Amino acid sequence: MAKGGGLFNLSKFDVVVVGAGPSGSTAAYLLAKAGFKVLLLERGRGAGSKLLWGGKAYAEPLRKVWPELDKEAPIHRWVTKERISIVWGERALTLEYKLGRKVAFTSPLPELAGWMAKKAESAGALLLDEVPVDEIVVKEGRAVGVRSGNDFVSADVVIDAEGANRILLEKLGLADRPSPYDMALGVKEVLSLDPRLIEERFGLERDEGLSWLILGDITAGIPGGGFVYTMRETIGIGLVLNIGHAAVAAEKGILRDHVSRLVEGLRTHPYFRNYWREADVIEYGGRMTIEGGLRFVPKRLYSNGLLVVGDAAGMLVNTGYTIRGVDTAVTSARLAAEAIIEARDRGGFTEENLRAYEEKVRESYIYRDLVEHSGIAEIFDDPFFFSKVPSLATRAASKLFEADYGEPSLLEAIKRSAEEEEISLLRLMLKVGRVVRRI
Ligand SMILES: Cc1cc2nc3c(=O)[nH]c(=O)nc-3n(C[C@H](O)[C@H](O)[C@H](O)COP(=O)(O)OP(=O)(O)OC[C@H]3O[C@@H](n4cnc5c(N)ncnc54)[C@H](O)[C@@H]3O)c2cc1C
Repeated sequence: MAKGGGLFNLSKFDVVVVGAGPSGSTAAYLLAKAGFKVLLLERGRGAGSKLLWGGKAYAEPLRKVWPELDKEAPIHRWVTKERISIVWGERALTLEYKLGRKVAFTSPLPELAGWMAKKAESAGALLLDEVPVDEIVVKEGRAVGVRSGNDFVSADVVIDAEGANRILLEKLGLADRPSPYDMALGVKEVLSLDPRLIEERFGLERDEGLSWLILGDITAGIPGGGFVYTMRETIGIGLVLNIGHAAVAAEKGILRDHVSRLVEGLRTHPYFRNYWREADVIEYGGRMTIEGGLRFVPKRLYSNGLLVVGDAAGMLVNTGYTIRGVDTAVTSARLAAEAIIEARDRGGFTEENLRAYEEKVRESYIYRDLVEHSGIAEIFDDPFFFSKVPSLATRAASKLFEADYGEPSLLEAIKRSAEEEEISLLRLMLKVGRVVRRI
């Protein structure tokens, strides 16, 4: 990997890609492979170094770009167990699903994105790290290159792959400042543990992994949730909290501590702590992610000489039970690369020729899923689902499993719990109906 600085010494490129995350490296890889002269710029030290995520990538969309994925990529464990828990106080209600085939894998994102960037370099792209791009330069209505400090590098096409915090796109006026309700903050700890203990405690075979979603008072009732992912010899645990609702909770005094305290609460929670007993916290960090679904997608994903891919383009699907940001980033970048190759064959990177990218995205599974799950943003807007529902669900379970005598029917348990929580059964049914329709 070459070091940045003195960009003006570089000759002109066919394509400059801003950001060496999954989307940027995918675009750089495919375009370098197709014979374009590609420059990939990353502000962090090394590709992927600034990245943090939960931990699970869906494999099939990645195999479309790298058929060698299963053999070569830094796959830590294939997810064979999906768990969802609702916790309230010390009570917990858990649903587990055992998968029948290899759909998704766990991997630390810096490793996975680092591998993708290496692929781009070996295909011929030039990767420069520690180069923060300050501006996508537009002249006479056309993107002509990028500026970093006093350096300028020109290109026929610029690909904006800067991620969810899309400052460059906002500067260009192509995206609005997002509402804090459309963004979430993820905070994570990485715990180191002997792989055999990971397998023993989570009931996994070697190379098998677990993905665990947690709802309830671990987020202090703030819309969001917790996650646990098992890597080869580490466990990633963390929380994702809606920023708008977290700010309101802080104002009201509901959220009194730093969010990292809530992650500590998850780590030390009696229901969870034995899974990682004796583990060491070896890393922690935070990063923003998208929660607005379709609301976060800019009006256009292309303009003269410019394409927007990955998180910057709002290509993240949050279904409520899983986050798909990496496979969608890779797919959008693949579609952008296809559109650029076609535009070259049609004689230029005009707006007219690059429009095909947006059409491809609209026809893809990403757009279909964004539309299908568009109602999920509405669920995230309603704290009811993150306080009353988990509290009621665990209360009802306690009536079933902790009854001293005369165990009630399920319906009776729900009715009595709803009364105690002062929620009308009709309101509850309407709300639950909405979740079922939206998810
Ligand atoms: C807490 C959390 C949990 C998540 N869990 C999952 C999960 O389990 N599964 C999943 O599929 N997705 C998950 N995601 C989402 C996923 O990480 C993103 O959707 C994905 O990384 C997007 O890829 P990208 O390349 O578009 O953007 P990014 O990964 O954000 O990469 C952008 C890159 O651009 C660089 N950059 C930014 N600005 C500049 C600039 N001006 N100049 C130069 N470089 C710049 C950044 O340093 C970064 O390397 C999660 C996200 C978070 C925050």
